[in-house]
Amino acid sequence: MKDKSEHITMLHGAGGTVMHSLVKNYIVKHFGNAVNIEVPLEALDDAAVVDNIVLKSDSHAVKPLFFPGGDIGCIAVAGTVNDIAVLGAEPYALACGFVLEEGLALKDFERILTSMQRTCQKAGVSIVTGDTKVVEKGSLGGCVINTSGIGKRTEALERNLEVVRRFRGDFKARWILDSNLKAGDKIILSGTIGDHGLAVLSAQEGLSFGSDIKSDVKPLNRVIQSLLGEVGGVVAMKDPTRGGLADALNEFSEKSHVGILIHEDRVPIRNDVQAACEMLGLDPLEIGNEGKVVVGVVEEKAEEALELLKTTEEGKDAEIIGEATADFKGVAMQTLVGGKRIISRPVGDPVPRIC
Ligand code: MG
Repeated sequence: MKDKSEHITMLHGAGGTVMHSLVKNYIVKHFGNAVNIEVPLEALDDAAVVDNIVLKSDSHAVKPLFFPGGDIGCIAVAGTVNDIAVLGAEPYALACGFVLEEGLALKDFERILTSMQRTCQKAGVSIVTGDTKVVEKGSLGGCVINTSGIGKRTEALERNLEVVRRFRGDFKARWILDSNLKAGDKIILSGTIGDHGLAVLSAQEGLSFGSDIKSDVKPLNRVIQSLLGEVGGVVAMKDPTRGGLADALNEFSEKSHVGILIHEDRVPIRNDVQAACEMLGLDPLEIGNEGKVVVGVVEEKAEEALELLKTTEEGKDAEIIGEATADFKGVAMQTLVGGKRIISRPVGDPVPRIC
């Protein structure tokens, strides 16, 4: 009997350990080790850096196309913008490839384009090139959008790095990378988790949860640039998308070779999201988000960074949720009842096709 793992399964696209092994064992095997790339493919960061330009490509296959709080159009712009922004760069130009499914209503296509344009305006970016293909009716779900983009260094990033070096003399990194954390750095989460995954799940399954759970999808580049320029001290950043906060923290921990301890009572979760997760047997730490950022910042700047975030719409529910530590390896959570729970990398996001 053939091993199921010889074929692509939905888990291969769900963040988590199964997707990471696909990327490492197949994609990096063939495309890794390109020469003279400052932040290369095999760093597996949110984006690459080539000749001082941050470069990112991201395909968006969220199902359904429209869901509470958002649609595939705003995700297609915000997803790529945020991956560029978390390296510390300012995104400025995007390329967009549409794969449209036969039968997609033109009014829905126009609604998606309008949403993309609105999100571009919010982020201050432009779509400058692209492509359109059409495939026969099947299971595409209407359309898939690939968005690639470039971002450049900014004054704010330079100021941020100067602040880091003031506290950490040996800091050599030129970008905000997953591998930059050191024991003692604080971990800030910009707001509540699980909202996006549950909003998409509710649309997929026709559930209402008797509440008002909406996607958090939004571009974060402006708030990130203010944080870098006005406070500084940021060393690592990640948008906790597929695989959620659990996957993002494990990426930090593995690449930076530090332990991370978070505190359950400080992780912001809406009551209705928590209740829906309990009802469905889902762990909110493993559910994807599209408008949140996890920030590693030097301890001396953590309170100031939190204060700035709290003055913004994007970061009004931000909290310092934990710290990097040399006491253990991996990620752990101090629970409400007083124990410690290991937070391992999820096998895959429990909600399929969330982005
Ligand atoms: Mg990312």
